[in-house]
Parts: sequence; structure tokens; C-alpha cells
Amino acid sequence: MRKILPILLILALLAGCAASDPCAQRTVFCMDTVMDIQVWGNERQQAVEAIVEMLTELEKTWSATDENSLLSALNRGEGTLNDAQQAFLDRAVKLQNDTGGAFDPKLGSVIALWGFYDDNYRVPTADELAAAKLQPQWDLGAIVKGYAGELAAKVLADYDVDRAILNLGGNVQTYGEKAGGEQWRIGIQNPNGGDALGALLISGSMAVVTSGDYQRYFELDGVRYHHILNPKNGMPADSGLISVTVICADGAVADALSTALFVMGMETATEYWTENRNFEAVFVLKDGTIYATEGAQLTGCEFEVIHCEN
Ligand code: ADP
Ligand code: MG
Repeated sequence: MRKILPILLILALLAGCAASDPCAQRTVFCMDTVMDIQVWGNERQQAVEAIVEMLTELEKTWSATDENSLLSALNRGEGTLNDAQQAFLDRAVKLQNDTGGAFDPKLGSVIALWGFYDDNYRVPTADELAAAKLQPQWDLGAIVKGYAGELAAKVLADYDVDRAILNLGGNVQTYGEKAGGEQWRIGIQNPNGGDALGALLISGSMAVVTSGDYQRYFELDGVRYHHILNPKNGMPADSGLISVTVICADGAVADALSTALFVMGMETATEYWTENRNFEAVFVLKDGTIYATEGAQLTGCEFEVIHCEN
């Protein structure tokens, strides 16, 4: 017992749970990634369980690799959607239109060609990619984790909880205010490894989502092929960016945009921000330069601010 106690204590401290302010914490593997949930308040335990149940259900519904999922059925031309599921697909299609197709929820057959589903990686030919493009198949991998964060916030609202923070594999969702009006501090991963690049200060309930070329990739003959594809040619997006973080009240939008802005590149992404302004963003270029839109509260690193007048 003596040996176990200090270890447990360290884990609890790492997780940010103080004895005076107990939190419920769970780590689960879901949607092909590690997810971490922390909830504070009276009904914290019940809330965590309800969130895990919701995540499991969401994965069963939208998995691109599980042939028993609703998404796989849709891709076979089968399956029926309830209203909420239809609304989610409609939002995905709207985001596709809004982003000029940079976010494309029907890249499934293209993603399959690269071997990202079965880890059987290969570089498809241009002809194969063109043929796959003509057979659109749903893949919601670029939006479903953000949507999950959004649904988690709805679950939390049904319970007597004070605040929560979820890390859904690079998709962070905050909920509520920290004690004493302190802001949430969300580290941005350094795309080149090592310590965090910097941290974002976040107030209240918000989604903070990062898409990067380092998150999932394979290497062949010294070339890195990553998982964010340019829908125009089916190739890994080569936009000069290596990471995009989006901060938005709406989790699904944050997730879809992190992918879309990555595909667009700095210039088009900046225009998109200027025209929409419903989110803030942090961009990291290949050469390491960091840019942040004027409303992003970034600390701990040097960066250029993108102003609206740009
Ligand atoms: P992650 O899932 O690693 O957090 P993203 O949110 O950027 O990262 O989503 C990338 C995933 O979305 C890919 O693994 C693939 O399944 C799918 N995808 C790749 N490119 C696009 C795109 N341009 N639009 C929509 N989905 C994409
Ligand atoms: Mg995304």
C-alpha cells in the first residue's frame, strides 16, 4: 500500500485533481485514439459515465472501419438515419460548401486507397485517385471528434457539475469556468516534437482542435505522406502549413475547419477567417513561423498576429 499511494498521488496531480476539489477522471481508447475525460462537481462520476456511453455510441455509428457501423451501411447504399444523424451529415455537407470543398466528408474511397484504414500504406497512382474521387464514400474522421466534444458539453449540462475538460485525441473541449475565474490553459503540441509550442488561454466552454501533418503518416523513400488530403487531387495537402489549431464555440465546426484551413494554406485560410470571424486560429508554417488571429490568446511563444484589416 505504501508504494502504491505516492504513485496514485502523482497521477492524480498530473490529472489536475486536487483532494480539496475532487474530479472524476477516465481514459478510454475510442475512435482510434486515446481520450481523456475530467469532470468536477457533485455528479462528476455519473457525467463521466454518460460521456463514455455517448462516445461509444458515436463510434459505433460513424466508424469508417467497422463494417457494422451506420456509416459503412450508408456507404453500401443501406441504412436509415434518425433526425440527429441526418442533421449531422447535413452540417458536414454545409461545411464542405462553406470551405469551398477543402473539407470533404466523402473522401472515404480516396483515404482507403492510401491504406489509412488498414495500415497497409501505399502511394496510389493519379488514375487510381481520379477513379476513387468518382466514387464518393462518407468519412467523417475530420469532424466526428469535434462533434463528440460538442455532444459531451450537452451531456454535461444535464448533470450537476461545475466544470470539465476533455481531450479527445487532439480535440480539446472545455466546459464551464475554472475556480476563481482562472482561464483554461491548453498546450499546443509542437509539430516537430518536444515540449508544447505554447499555450492557449480559454474562457468558458470552447473547442480547441489541432490538425497536423505529424498526427498520422507513413514514410516511403524519404517522403512523408500524411493523412490530411487535398480533395482536389487526393494527395496529402502541401500548403506550407504543418499545423492548424482552431478555437470555436462549436466543436464540429472547429474540427472541420482545422482540417479545411490546413488544406487551404495561410493565405486562403486568413481570407476565410476575415470573412467569417466565428473562430480564432493558430497556424504553424513549415519553417516554424507561428501566426495567430487577433482574438487567440496565445502565450509562451513568439508569433505574428493576423489582424482583421489584413
Ligand atoms: P485527426 O483526425 O488526426 O484529429 P483531422 O481532424 O484533420 O485530424 O482529420 C483527418 C482525417 O479526416 C483523416 O484521417 C481522414 O480520415 C479525413 N480527411 C483527410 N483529409 C480530409 C479532408 N480534406 N476533408 C475531410 N476529411 C479529410
Ligand atoms: Mg479536423
